[in-house]
Amino acid sequence: MRILLMGPPGAGKGTQAALLAQRLSIPHISTGDIFRANVSQGTPLGRKAQEYMDKGEYVPDDVTNAMVRDRLTWEDAVNGFILDGYPRTTAQVSELDAMLADAGIGLDVVVELHAQPEVLLQRMVKRAADQGRSDDDPTVIRRRLEVYAAETAPLLEVYGQRNLLRQVDGIGDIADVTSRLVAAVS
Ligand code: AMP
Repeated sequence: MRILLMGPPGAGKGTQAALLAQRLSIPHISTGDIFRANVSQGTPLGRKAQEYMDKGEYVPDDVTNAMVRDRLTWEDAVNGFILDGYPRTTAQVSELDAMLADAGIGLDVVVELHAQPEVLLQRMVKRAADQGRSDDDPTVIRRRLEVYAAETAPLLEVYGQRNLLRQVDGIGDIADVTSRLVAAVS
Protein backbone atom coordinates (compact mmCIF):
# COMPACT_ATOMS: atom_id res chain seq x y z
CA MET A 1 0.00 0.00 0.00
CA ARG A 2 1.14 3.51 -0.74
CA ILE A 3 -0.24 5.80 1.89
CA LEU A 4 0.11 9.49 2.48
CA LEU A 5 -0.59 10.67 6.03
CA MET A 6 -1.46 14.33 6.39
CA GLY A 7 -2.49 16.59 9.25
CA PRO A 8 -1.37 19.66 11.17
CA PRO A 9 1.67 19.72 13.45
CA GLY A 10 0.81 17.98 16.72
CA ALA A 11 -1.93 15.77 15.23
CA GLY A 12 0.10 12.65 16.04
CA LYS A 13 1.19 11.82 12.49
CA GLY A 14 4.66 10.62 13.45
CA THR A 15 3.46 8.29 16.19
CA GLN A 16 0.61 6.90 14.12
CA ALA A 17 2.60 6.53 10.92
CA ALA A 18 5.22 4.48 12.79
CA LEU A 19 2.54 2.18 14.26
CA LEU A 20 0.73 1.78 10.96
CA ALA A 21 3.99 1.07 9.14
CA GLN A 22 4.75 -1.69 11.61
CA ARG A 23 1.27 -3.16 11.21
CA LEU A 24 1.50 -3.15 7.41
CA SER A 25 5.22 -4.05 7.19
CA ILE A 26 6.05 -1.07 5.02
CA PRO A 27 8.55 1.71 5.71
CA HIS A 28 7.59 4.94 7.44
CA ILE A 29 9.13 7.76 5.43
CA SER A 30 9.07 10.98 7.44
CA THR A 31 10.80 14.01 5.92
CA GLY A 32 10.89 15.62 9.39
CA ASP A 33 12.69 12.53 10.81
CA ILE A 34 15.18 12.50 7.92
CA PHE A 35 15.89 16.19 8.45
CA ARG A 36 16.29 15.71 12.23
CA ALA A 37 18.68 12.77 11.68
CA ASN A 38 20.77 14.97 9.37
CA VAL A 39 20.73 17.80 11.90
CA SER A 40 21.97 15.54 14.67
CA GLN A 41 24.70 14.09 12.42
CA GLY A 42 25.74 17.60 11.39
CA THR A 43 25.58 16.87 7.64
CA PRO A 44 25.46 19.73 5.08
CA LEU A 45 21.80 18.87 4.45
CA GLY A 46 21.13 19.03 8.19
CA ARG A 47 22.82 22.41 8.54
CA LYS A 48 20.74 23.79 5.69
CA ALA A 49 17.48 22.30 6.99
CA GLN A 50 18.02 23.49 10.54
CA GLU A 51 17.97 27.17 9.54
CA TYR A 52 14.37 26.72 8.41
CA MET A 53 13.17 24.19 10.98
CA ASP A 54 14.21 26.34 13.90
CA LYS A 55 11.98 29.13 12.61
CA GLY A 56 9.01 26.90 11.84
CA GLU A 57 9.43 27.50 8.10
CA TYR A 58 9.51 24.89 5.37
CA VAL A 59 12.83 23.69 4.02
CA PRO A 60 13.07 24.75 0.33
CA ASP A 61 11.33 22.46 -2.13
CA ASP A 62 14.44 21.64 -4.17
CA VAL A 63 16.23 20.24 -1.11
CA THR A 64 13.18 18.33 0.13
CA ASN A 65 12.16 16.95 -3.27
CA ALA A 66 15.62 15.57 -4.03
CA MET A 67 15.73 13.88 -0.63
CA VAL A 68 12.36 12.17 -1.14
CA ARG A 69 13.14 11.19 -4.73
CA ASP A 70 16.18 9.35 -3.45
CA ARG A 71 14.40 7.74 -0.49
CA LEU A 72 11.62 6.32 -2.65
CA THR A 73 14.15 4.36 -4.71
CA TRP A 74 15.32 2.33 -1.70
CA GLU A 75 14.62 -1.38 -1.90
CA ASP A 76 12.35 -1.36 1.18
CA ALA A 77 9.86 0.96 -0.53
CA VAL A 78 9.17 -1.36 -3.46
CA ASN A 79 6.01 -2.83 -1.94
CA GLY A 80 4.66 0.34 -0.40
CA PHE A 81 5.32 3.08 2.11
CA ILE A 82 3.74 5.60 4.41
CA LEU A 83 4.74 9.13 3.57
CA ASP A 84 4.55 11.40 6.60
CA GLY A 85 5.12 15.14 6.18
CA TYR A 86 5.55 15.13 2.42
CA PRO A 87 4.19 16.67 0.23
CA ARG A 88 3.52 19.91 2.09
CA THR A 89 3.25 22.40 -0.80
CA THR A 90 1.49 22.30 -4.16
CA ALA A 91 4.90 22.27 -5.86
CA GLN A 92 5.79 19.16 -3.85
CA VAL A 93 2.52 17.52 -4.96
CA SER A 94 3.53 18.00 -8.60
CA GLU A 95 6.99 16.67 -7.85
CA LEU A 96 5.62 13.61 -6.06
CA ASP A 97 3.21 13.00 -8.95
CA ALA A 98 6.18 13.02 -11.31
CA MET A 99 8.25 10.68 -9.11
CA LEU A 100 5.40 8.18 -8.86
CA ALA A 101 4.58 8.44 -12.57
CA ASP A 102 8.24 7.76 -13.42
CA ALA A 103 8.05 4.62 -11.30
CA GLY A 104 4.68 3.63 -12.79
CA ILE A 105 2.93 3.71 -9.42
CA GLY A 106 0.39 5.88 -7.58
CA LEU A 107 -0.92 6.62 -4.10
CA ASP A 108 -3.67 4.32 -2.83
CA VAL A 109 -5.02 6.59 -0.13
CA VAL A 110 -4.42 9.92 1.59
CA VAL A 111 -5.47 10.09 5.23
CA GLU A 112 -5.93 13.30 7.14
CA LEU A 113 -5.51 13.02 10.90
CA HIS A 114 -7.41 15.93 12.35
CA ALA A 115 -7.62 17.59 15.76
CA GLN A 116 -8.75 20.97 17.12
CA PRO A 117 -6.13 23.73 17.36
CA GLU A 118 -6.24 23.77 21.21
CA VAL A 119 -5.42 20.06 21.31
CA LEU A 120 -2.56 20.55 18.84
CA LEU A 121 -1.06 23.30 20.98
CA GLN A 122 -1.37 21.26 24.18
CA ARG A 123 0.28 18.25 22.56
CA MET A 124 3.17 20.23 21.20
CA VAL A 125 3.80 21.96 24.51
CA LYS A 126 3.86 18.52 26.16
CA ARG A 127 6.19 17.16 23.45
CA ALA A 128 8.53 20.09 24.02
CA ALA A 129 8.74 19.10 27.70
CA ASP A 130 9.14 15.36 26.96
CA GLN A 131 11.42 15.35 23.92
CA GLY A 132 12.94 18.81 23.81
CA ARG A 133 12.33 19.34 20.10
CA SER A 134 13.79 22.75 19.29
CA ASP A 135 10.86 23.63 17.01
CA ASP A 136 8.32 23.01 19.80
CA ASP A 137 8.95 26.46 21.28
CA PRO A 138 5.66 28.48 21.57
CA THR A 139 6.55 31.12 18.93
CA VAL A 140 7.77 28.46 16.51
CA ILE A 141 4.69 26.29 17.17
CA ARG A 142 2.44 29.21 16.24
CA ARG A 143 4.41 29.77 13.06
CA ARG A 144 4.28 26.07 12.13
CA LEU A 145 0.49 26.06 12.50
CA GLU A 146 0.22 29.19 10.32
CA VAL A 147 2.49 27.76 7.64
CA TYR A 148 0.46 24.52 7.66
CA ALA A 149 -2.80 26.44 7.20
CA ALA A 150 -1.40 28.56 4.39
CA GLU A 151 0.74 26.07 2.48
CA THR A 152 -0.40 22.55 3.30
CA ALA A 153 -4.11 22.57 4.19
CA PRO A 154 -4.98 23.43 0.54
CA LEU A 155 -3.52 20.04 -0.47
CA LEU A 156 -6.46 18.31 1.21
CA GLU A 157 -8.69 19.78 -1.47
CA VAL A 158 -6.37 18.52 -4.21
CA TYR A 159 -6.44 14.94 -2.91
CA GLY A 160 -10.17 15.23 -2.15
CA GLN A 161 -10.80 16.03 -5.81
CA ARG A 162 -8.82 12.93 -6.75
CA ASN A 163 -11.10 10.87 -4.48
CA LEU A 164 -8.15 9.67 -2.43
CA LEU A 165 -8.85 11.49 0.84
CA ARG A 166 -10.17 9.86 4.02
CA GLN A 167 -10.47 11.73 7.31
CA VAL A 168 -9.68 10.25 10.70
CA ASP A 169 -10.26 11.77 14.12
CA GLY A 170 -6.87 12.09 15.79
CA ILE A 171 -8.26 12.58 19.31
CA GLY A 172 -8.24 9.72 21.79
CA ASP A 173 -6.02 6.87 22.94
CA ILE A 174 -3.12 6.09 20.64
CA ALA A 175 -4.42 2.54 20.05
CA ASP A 176 -7.93 3.77 19.23
CA VAL A 177 -6.59 6.23 16.68
CA THR A 178 -4.45 3.46 15.13
CA SER A 179 -7.55 1.25 14.78
CA ARG A 180 -9.39 4.08 13.02
CA LEU A 181 -6.45 4.51 10.68
CA VAL A 182 -6.25 0.81 9.90
CA ALA A 183 -9.97 0.88 9.07
CA ALA A 184 -9.53 3.96 6.89
CA VAL A 185 -6.77 2.44 4.77
CA SER A 186 -8.32 -1.02 4.48
P1 AMP B 1 7.67 17.35 10.99
O1 AMP B 1 8.44 16.46 11.87
O2 AMP B 1 6.97 16.63 9.86
O3 AMP B 1 6.71 18.25 11.75
O4 AMP B 1 8.72 18.33 10.28
C1 AMP B 1 9.56 19.18 11.03
C2 AMP B 1 10.10 20.30 10.17
O5 AMP B 1 10.87 19.75 9.09
C3 AMP B 1 9.04 21.17 9.49
O6 AMP B 1 8.55 22.17 10.34
C4 AMP B 1 9.84 21.73 8.32
O7 AMP B 1 10.74 22.75 8.74
C5 AMP B 1 10.69 20.53 7.92
N1 AMP B 1 9.98 19.71 6.92
C6 AMP B 1 9.51 18.44 7.07
N2 AMP B 1 8.91 18.01 5.95
C7 AMP B 1 8.99 19.02 5.05
C8 AMP B 1 8.53 19.20 3.72
N3 AMP B 1 7.85 18.24 3.08
N4 AMP B 1 8.81 20.39 3.12
C9 AMP B 1 9.49 21.35 3.75
N5 AMP B 1 9.92 21.27 5.01
C10 AMP B 1 9.67 20.12 5.66
